[in-house]
Amino acid sequence: MSNEPNDTPRQIAAKDISPDPVKIVSPQTLDLYAKRKKIQPRAIEGFFQNIRIITIWATMAVYFLLPWVTWDGRQALLFDLPARKFYIFWWTFLPQDFIFLSWLLIIAAMSLFTLTVFAGRVYCGYVCPQTVWTKIFLIIENFTEGSRNARVRLDKAKISPEKIIRRGSKHIAWLAVAFVTAITFVGYFTPARTLTTELLQVNLGGWELFWIFFFTMATYTNAGWMREQVCMYMCPYGRFQSVMMDKDTLIISYDAKRGESRGGRKKEADYKSLGLGDCIDCELCVQVCPTGIDIRDGLQFECIQCAACIDACDSIMDQMGYARGLVRYTTEHQLAKGGRFKFLRLRLVGYAAIIGIMLTIFATMLTLRVPLEVETIRDRNQLYRENSQGMIENVYLLKVLNKSQKTRHFTVSLKSDKHISMSKPVVMDIEAGDLASLPVTLVADPEELHHNKYEVTFMVQDSIDPGLNKTSESRFFAPAQHEGRDHD
Ligand code: SF4
Ligand code: SF4
Repeated sequence: MSNEPNDTPRQIAAKDISPDPVKIVSPQTLDLYAKRKKIQPRAIEGFFQNIRIITIWATMAVYFLLPWVTWDGRQALLFDLPARKFYIFWWTFLPQDFIFLSWLLIIAAMSLFTLTVFAGRVYCGYVCPQTVWTKIFLIIENFTEGSRNARVRLDKAKISPEKIIRRGSKHIAWLAVAFVTAITFVGYFTPARTLTTELLQVNLGGWELFWIFFFTMATYTNAGWMREQVCMYMCPYGRFQSVMMDKDTLIISYDAKRGESRGGRKKEADYKSLGLGDCIDCELCVQVCPTGIDIRDGLQFECIQCAACIDACDSIMDQMGYARGLVRYTTEHQLAKGGRFKFLRLRLVGYAAIIGIMLTIFATMLTLRVPLEVETIRDRNQLYRENSQGMIENVYLLKVLNKSQKTRHFTVSLKSDKHISMSKPVVMDIEAGDLASLPVTLVADPEELHHNKYEVTFMVQDSIDPGLNKTSESRFFAPAQHEGRDHD
């Protein structure tokens, strides 16, 4: 029975919202592609640019020299993919040690998070390979095509022998740097000395040629043509770094309270009485910016914190006789309320503590790591066999992996029932990083066996350094009729 007062369907007032055909306009195309505006950053000198020069050269030196450092007669840092061995100075990592490399990567990621909480994108500004190589390419550009104004003029100039020579020499120099960068990169995966010898003899393998070509083009394109586009559109870190930052993170910022109202004035003018702030609106901070933004518009995701705008603005403040720091490293809290930089923050301390714990675990794992792996595989075809003398035999395959840096001489010993023994002494020499497979036979007199199953433990031990040893367990099987003979 219906609860409605009557069964007549209720009418709901409806409004016709269909578009007015008279008002429909032709559809417009919304272009999601923004054409790149070429940025010609102006070179600037100053305190932070000097620091950048040091960090850039240090990064380049580490990158280019590391493949030539030797350790124990081989390349100190080598990721030998075909042999599946990673050499990092005194360590040799094999696929079984993947946990160590994963752990290292996690620690590196956590460190980057912590650094971002502390000082924003300082990594981008000072040591990121994209920034470093772009800076090197800019130095080449400055050398071959001249200063910013000369480059802008060259861009607008018609084709001429001078333009061809300047442009051509720039691209040749860029390609040369990109080529050396690519050779070095491949040198981390193929021994660098062998690679360069093969290169000089024009005897490179197909894969090596491919990767050298690939990384040459990648470096040339990223650092020469795409530059800030990589930071703005391709790098995920730039996008999510704002999530990690807080109001006490060091950022590069324009002090609007001090700078506004901005405007031109004579050096000796009493600008305060004119209602002006310290910003003379010279736009030098914009001209030096490699990503082409105006720091006075506030914190922007495009800012890679290269500090060029600080040095530019400080130079103007010096010229005007004003205090430095209109654009400076500061925090949002400091800008709003003043005061000192808050170094000790719960979040920062928390991240630092996590990194400390992770590093401790990593160091402990490395210290406890035995550079030896032993695995025992039983002969699966038969549990046991009887030899011509009527003895019971079990056959095993010992797989021994020498993860140390040198050839070692190993002996194998057995721990089990006193009536079970090895058919012959087992010794082996295994080269650094090699895996050896060794058949081992255990024998026992069936009259002495009282069970059909015994635990056996093989110990593989370095004959010179007995502390380097590892055990592996298995079982010895005997005929079932011997089970329980001691109870007869
Ligand atoms: S705004 Fe300043 S710090 Fe940021 S990228 Fe531009 S010049 Fe570098
Ligand atoms: S460089 Fe300094 S003074 Fe010049 S526009 Fe930028 S903030 Fe203003």
